[in-house]
Amino acid sequence: MAFNLEMYPIVYLAQYNPETKGWDEKWIESDRIPFDELKKMNETDRNEVLIKRNDLGLPGVSYTSQYGYGCFEGMKAFPTKSGSMAIFRPDRNAARFANSMKGLKTPAFPEDMYVKACLEFVRKNAELGYVPSYNNEWEENNYASASAVYIRPFMNSEGAIGVGIAKAPYVIICGTTVSSYFKGGNTKAITTKRIRATKHGTGWIKCASNYVISALAKKEAEEAGFMEVVFLDADDHTYVQEGSSCNIFFVLKNGKLVTPDLGDTILPGITRESTIELARDLGMTVEERQISIDEVMTDVKECFVTGTAAGLTPIESVTHNGKEAVFNNRQPGETAVKIQKTLKGMQYGAINDTKNWNYYV
Ligand code: PMP
Repeated sequence: MAFNLEMYPIVYLAQYNPETKGWDEKWIESDRIPFDELKKMNETDRNEVLIKRNDLGLPGVSYTSQYGYGCFEGMKAFPTKSGSMAIFRPDRNAARFANSMKGLKTPAFPEDMYVKACLEFVRKNAELGYVPSYNNEWEENNYASASAVYIRPFMNSEGAIGVGIAKAPYVIICGTTVSSYFKGGNTKAITTKRIRATKHGTGWIKCASNYVISALAKKEAEEAGFMEVVFLDADDHTYVQEGSSCNIFFVLKNGKLVTPDLGDTILPGITRESTIELARDLGMTVEERQISIDEVMTDVKECFVTGTAAGLTPIESVTHNGKEAVFNNRQPGETAVKIQKTLKGMQYGAINDTKNWNYYV
C-alpha cells in the first residue's frame, strides 16, 4: 500500500474489562514529528519512530505477538467534493470486526462503539490537519491518483505466554493517508499452490494469522513478475477463492458476472457486497457460485479484484499451470470501468450516494 510517511498522531485505545463487562476507552495523542525530519530517515527507522511515537502501552508478549491471535479491519474515509470527510460503510466493517472477534472466542467489540470511535478518529486527526482534502484534478483519471484516509482498527490480546484465548482484549484504531494500492505497471495475476484457508478454518474472519500465507504467496507472484496471486480451494485445487487481500470477479463471455460464493474460506468483502449490489442495479445478472479455474481459462472476458485497499482493479490476465488467459486485450473492461465509476463517484461524493453508504464525519 502506498502509505504516507506518517501515522496520524491521535490513536484510539479501548480494553475489555472482564469484571464490569464493559470497555474502557481513551484517546492517545503524541507529538507531531516535523515532516522534513521523517523524510530524512530510512523506512525502518521511520516506522520505529512512528510506532514508538504512538506508544500504546500494549504488552510485548501476548497471544497476538506469539501466535498471530488477533484480528483487524481496513476501511477508508474519503475527502468528498462537498469538503467533508465520509467513511464508507463503517457499519459493515463494524459487523465484520465483531464477527471476527466472535470467531476468535473473545468478547466482541460493540458495533455502535466501533462506528462512533472511527468517526471520532477521523474528526480528531482532521482537526490537526492530517487528512487530505478533495482535489478536482482527481476526476480526470477517475480518482486513480486520489488520496484517502486508511483506517486500521485492530484487536490485540492482553499480556500472555501460553496458547490461549484473550479474555481482556484491546481494540486500537490508528490510520494514515494512502494513495493507490497497486503500483502502476502490469495487472497480471497467477494462481498459487499455496492454500490460504481450509474448510472449518479461519478464512471467513479477518484474523492476523491468515495473512502470513497471503504475504508469502503475493511475494512469490511479484518475484515471478505478476501483480497479484489467486488462491484455489484446499480440497480439489480446482475452484477459485480470492486474491491475497481482495475478492475476485469474472465477467463471462455470456455477460454474467460471477464471483465465488463465500462459504467459510473466503473473506466477505465490503467492496464485494457493494459491487454485487451496484452490478445488479446496472441490470447485470450476478452469480455467487463456485467457479473453476478451467472455466476462468476458457469462458471469461473480463476479470477484476475488489477490496478497500485495491478499490476495484481490473486484471489483464490469469496464468495457471504455465498458460495465460488474457482478458479484453489487457485493457480495463467495460463492466469494471462502469462499476468503478459509480463506486468511486459515491465514495468521493461526486455523484449522489443513493445507498446512504457514506457516514459523514
Ligand atoms: N479478502 C481478503 C483476504 C482481504 O484481506 C480483503 C481486504 N479486507 C478483502 C477480501 C476485501 O475486503 P473489503 O472489500 O472489505 O476490503
